[in-house]
Amino acid sequence: MSADTKNAKGSGREAPLVRRATPDFRWESVAHMPYKEEGSAPFKAISRQILHSDPDLAGELRYFEMDAGGYSTLERHEHVHGVMIFRGHGHCLVGDTVYEVGPHDLVTIPPMTWHQFRATRGEPLGFLCLVNVRRDKPQLPTEDELNALKADPAIAAFLSR
Ligand code: MN
Repeated sequence: MSADTKNAKGSGREAPLVRRATPDFRWESVAHMPYKEEGSAPFKAISRQILHSDPDLAGELRYFEMDAGGYSTLERHEHVHGVMIFRGHGHCLVGDTVYEVGPHDLVTIPPMTWHQFRATRGEPLGFLCLVNVRRDKPQLPTEDELNALKADPAIAAFLSR
């Protein structure tokens, strides 16, 4: 067994200990999946890969990637996200502020804070996202909450990009 195929079966870990990066921001033994169940929430042109999920870790590391023009769901929840932009440029909304983001920028999403990522620069936008394994279900804005957000011209412009 080569070092590359050795794993930790028996300790609850099924994935090889080292999984190589492959072209186009994918990885060996990592499923390239839909972002969420279709129709469960608004989103566009975004994929999900779970990079690290281990019974002995309290967190998971995921990689989300949007095509140009894609976006994640506008949502909030009690759990926190630790995000690193991995590729591309775009914008994100955190709370009541829209930020331009680019490679290796770090973004913290605090509890119960509206957030969304948008690939606004005509290129894919990919980010790593660290979360708790045990976490609450995201909440979507009500129409009133969405209108309150859109009362800010910068947020209204962001949401229509
Ligand atoms: Mn979220």
